[in-house]
Amino acid sequence: MNKKIMLNESDIPRQWYNITADMPNKPLPPLHPGTKQPVGPQDLAPLFPMELIKQEVSTERYIEIPDEIIEIYKMWRPSPLYRADKFEKLLDAPVKIYYKYEGVSPSGSHKPNTAVAQAYYNKKEGVKRIATETGAGQWGTALSFACAQFGLECDVYMVRISYDQKPYRKVMMNTFGANVYASPSNRTQAGRNILEQDPNSPGSLGIAISEAIEIAAQDPDTKYSLGSVLNHVLMHQTIIGQEAEKQMEYAGDFPDIIIAPLGGGSNFAGISFPFLKHKLTNGTKLRCIAVEPASCPKLTRGKFMYDFGDTAGYTPLLPMYTLGHNFKPAAIHAGGLRYHGASVLCSQLLKDGLIEAQAIQQLECFEAGVAFTKAEGIIPAPEATHGIAQVIREARRAKEEGTQKTILFNLCGHGLVDMQAYQDYFDGKLHDHSFSDEELQADLPNIAALQP
Ligand SMILES: *Cc1c(COP(=O)(O)O)cnc(C)c1O
Repeated sequence: MNKKIMLNESDIPRQWYNITADMPNKPLPPLHPGTKQPVGPQDLAPLFPMELIKQEVSTERYIEIPDEIIEIYKMWRPSPLYRADKFEKLLDAPVKIYYKYEGVSPSGSHKPNTAVAQAYYNKKEGVKRIATETGAGQWGTALSFACAQFGLECDVYMVRISYDQKPYRKVMMNTFGANVYASPSNRTQAGRNILEQDPNSPGSLGIAISEAIEIAAQDPDTKYSLGSVLNHVLMHQTIIGQEAEKQMEYAGDFPDIIIAPLGGGSNFAGISFPFLKHKLTNGTKLRCIAVEPASCPKLTRGKFMYDFGDTAGYTPLLPMYTLGHNFKPAAIHAGGLRYHGASVLCSQLLKDGLIEAQAIQQLECFEAGVAFTKAEGIIPAPEATHGIAQVIREARRAKEEGTQKTILFNLCGHGLVDMQAYQDYFDGKLHDHSFSDEELQADLPNIAALQP
C-alpha cells in the first residue's frame, strides 16, 4: 500500500469536464429578474469576459485548458492523493479511505484552480481590474494570487465580520497586492443602503457580492469574478476529480462513496463530477454526498426555486436549492459554507436523485477534524471538517452493516489560517444551531413572488 499517490506534471489533465453534456435533465436557464426571460450572453457581458460566458452556457463535454493556465497549475498540481491508513485504524471499520489534498496550493485551498483560469481570460480580453467578494477570505486570497500572476489589479469586498475576526487573511491578500474593503462599505449604493439600516452590520456574502457586481457594472475596465456557484467555476474544479481518477486507478481502487463539503458546490463538483460521469453514462454504482453545515442547510431543508445569488438582487435569478437571498446564517467558522444557495448544477443533480446531501452540526465537525489531525497530521480547514465528519458516519454505518466500502473525500483546504476557530472549539465557545422550519422558511415567501 502506498501512503501517497503522486502523478507527474505530464499527468495534469488538459481539459475540464463539463457535466452538462451528460446530465439527463439539463439545468434550467438563469432568468432576467425584470423580464423573466432567459438571460443572454449580452446581459452578462458587462460582468464577465466572453470566454467565461461561453463556458457558462457550453454543452461541450470537454473544454481545452490553455497552456498558460497549465503552467501556473504546475506550481502545485498534480496535488497528492493520500490513503488515510492511520485514520482508518482509528475508526476500526471495514473501510478504505482516500483523500485528495488541495491545501498544497499557494492560498491553501482548491480555489486557485478557478482563480487562475478566470484571471487568465480576463487578462486576455484586456480587463485591468477584477472586483470580487470573499467570506472567510479563501476566495479573496486565491484571486489575489491569480491576479498577481497576470498583473491584474484586484479589489476584494470582505464580509465585515471576517474582516474583523480573520485579520491574517486580509494581510495575505494585501501581500499579493490586492485592495481589501470591509463589506458593507460606503463605496457602493448596495453597501450604503445596508449601512443606513444598520451601521454595525456584520455583512454577508450576499451583500459583498452585490458590492463587487456594482463596482464592475459601472467601470468598463473592471470585471467581476465569483469563486463558486457558476457552471464555469465548477467546471474548472474538475481538474481535481480527473487527477483523483488516475490516482485511484494507480491504487487499484474505485470509490463507492465520494464526500465533500458544499458551500456553493465547486469543490464538491470538482472531486465528484468526473466520477459521476461513469454513473451518468454507464450506470456505475456510486454515492456522492455533499455536506453542508446544519446552520445553513439549503440542500437538506431549503426549497428548489428561482432566487437571486446576492442580497441586492443584481444577479440573474438562478434555479437552485435556496434558503432565500436574505437568509442570515449564524457566524460559524466554516465561513466558506455560509451561502444561502447551491449551484444550479448541484441543485439539479440533487433534485434528480443523482447525488445526496447531509447537514452536520459544527461540534461534530470539529471533533472529526481534531481526530483526523492527530491521525493524519494535516489540520483541515473548518469547511473540510464537514466532509470528515461524514466519512466517520459512513465508516460507522459500514461497520454496523458489515459491508466493505471505499471512500474518497476532498480535503479541500488546510486550516492554518483558521487556528482561532480551533481555539474557540477547545475553549468551549462554539455551539450548535438549530431552527424550526418556520424560522428557516421565513425568507422564502419573498422570493416565491419572483417565480415566473
Ligand atoms: C470556499 C471553500 C469551500 C466552499 O466552497 P465550494 O464552492 O462549495 O467549494 C469549502 N472549503 C474551502 C476550504 C473553501 O475555501
